[in-house]
Amino acid sequence: ADRDAQGHHQAEVAELKVLKFGGSSLKTGKNMRQVAEIIIAEKEKKAVVLSAVTGVTEMLVQFISRTRSEEDVDAFMKDVTKLHIDLIKDALSTDKGRAKAMEELIAKLVKLERMLYGSCYIEEVNPRIRDYVQCFGERLSVIMLAALLNEMGAKARPVDADEVGIITDGVYGTATVNMEATRSNIRPKLMKMLQDDVTPVITGFFGRAPEGSVTVFGRNGSDYSAAAVANAMGASSLEIWKDVDGFMSVDPKIVPSARAIPRLSYDEAAELAYFGAKVVHPMTMEPARSGNIEIRVKNVFRPEAPGTAIGGTGNVDKSIKSISCMKNLSLVKVFGEGTGYKLGVLADVASLLREAEINIYSVVTSLTCIGLLIDKKDVAKAQKVLAESGATRVETHTNFALMCIVGEGLGHHKGLASRVFKAVAKEGVNVGLISAGASLVAYHFTVDEADLDKATKAVHEELFGC
Ligand code: ASP
Ligand code: MG
Repeated sequence: ADRDAQGHHQAEVAELKVLKFGGSSLKTGKNMRQVAEIIIAEKEKKAVVLSAVTGVTEMLVQFISRTRSEEDVDAFMKDVTKLHIDLIKDALSTDKGRAKAMEELIAKLVKLERMLYGSCYIEEVNPRIRDYVQCFGERLSVIMLAALLNEMGAKARPVDADEVGIITDGVYGTATVNMEATRSNIRPKLMKMLQDDVTPVITGFFGRAPEGSVTVFGRNGSDYSAAAVANAMGASSLEIWKDVDGFMSVDPKIVPSARAIPRLSYDEAAELAYFGAKVVHPMTMEPARSGNIEIRVKNVFRPEAPGTAIGGTGNVDKSIKSISCMKNLSLVKVFGEGTGYKLGVLADVASLLREAEINIYSVVTSLTCIGLLIDKKDVAKAQKVLAESGATRVETHTNFALMCIVGEGLGHHKGLASRVFKAVAKEGVNVGLISAGASLVAYHFTVDEADLDKATKAVHEELFGC
């Protein structure tokens, strides 16, 4: 057999699928059983990656956003415990299964409680504590699903990402995976389980920093975890199971005639995910691409629907695939003399925003001005730090929305921009910042948030005829 760098035996498991399920598929006992049935119906070897139950991460994030009293901790622990115990009772039917799951769950909850008390006594919340607390939703959900699978006759085991050795770069809040280290850690351990016909049910959302602390990948980061596991294990495919059919030509809440998209390239999916289509986490495509692993986005509630395939070896046509939208943005204009020809102005502005942890979605410059698109919530902070940049003036415009048009070979569609802007103009909608050409598969522009639905309908009609 092949051996990897550490001399471990490699892939006796020929085909491995990684299946990822989101929190909304774990909301009730019935939902959990649907998930378990999908897993059991999969006859290939498989590893499962899970999110926290819907709402649990949000509860944890909110709670640990500031220091708390002992009474706060007690009340919070009561809520979290009840939510999960109710779910166990709803999902599992045997006393034995329930008792075992309960015992494992309590062991985790005790750890969470101790950390919360610790933070309360030292009257401090720091990035390390925050990340450690946030990941508990996943530690609890994997226990419940593994218990349910066992009760339904499939062998499964809960696996915590930090224990099995998913290694990160150590950046709190927005970590990325160190693939090399992760591969050599998790491969032998998970292979062993798979050879024993045990399905690992792995926590998404976080890993362990080289020095040992827990670091999370950012909200909705479980998709990225699943792609990293798929890459590390040399999986043949990655299925991301959601409560929607996959990527659509536009948000169906805005345009009800939206179409499902059967296939996207990695770049198309990444651009759509980044610019507002909340189907998968934008980082998911990276480990999948480097492992050449096809991603399939599927619907738990309609498993027979084809969903959207991303990447792999399938051919992607050069058509326009989708319009995505993003709200709650603001435009910041930084004016300065000779902005356009002074060296390093853009770098200065970018590093000031970076230090303030403000993300830039788009940037356009001219001789006198740099226009930056950022989250609306960051505007006051941006104004403050940019005032120190030596700019003569900083202007902010709130309530912008961004529309992004995505498709491979966008550059080859002659006259596309004029069709799009004509359609928008016909609705009397004003276009703000325009950005085209940076990516070959996406271009975007801003409109007033109040005009977004109108503009989106018009552009969808123009490009898709419905
Ligand atoms: N549970 C985490 C969150 O809510 C990660 C995930 O769901 O993917 O952000
Ligand atoms: Mg999610």
